[in-house]
Amino acid sequence: MVCDICGNKKARVRRITRSFGRGRSTFLIENVPVVSCPSCGESYLTAATLKEIERIRLHWRELAVETNIPLAKFEGAA
Ligand SMILES: [Zn+2]
Repeated sequence: MVCDICGNKKARVRRITRSFGRGRSTFLIENVPVVSCPSCGESYLTAATLKEIERIRLHWRELAVETNIPLAKFEGAA
C-alpha cells in the first residue's frame, strides 16, 4: 500500500498486539494493523484503524474475551 507520509508504494501492513488504557482498565487488542514503510522508516496507524480502536476502547468490556492465558514478556535482544 502507499505510505501516507512519503508516498512510497512499498509500505506493508504488520499485525501487532497492543495494550491500551491503564491500571484496571488495561486491555489488549490483537491484530492491530500497523503500516510500516521501508522507505521513510515510519510506522503508523491509519485513520480507519484509529476509529476502530476508539470504538473498541468504548466497548472493550463487552468485546473482550477473558482468556486467562498467561502472558510472558520477551525481554531479550533480537
Ligand atoms: Zn514512507
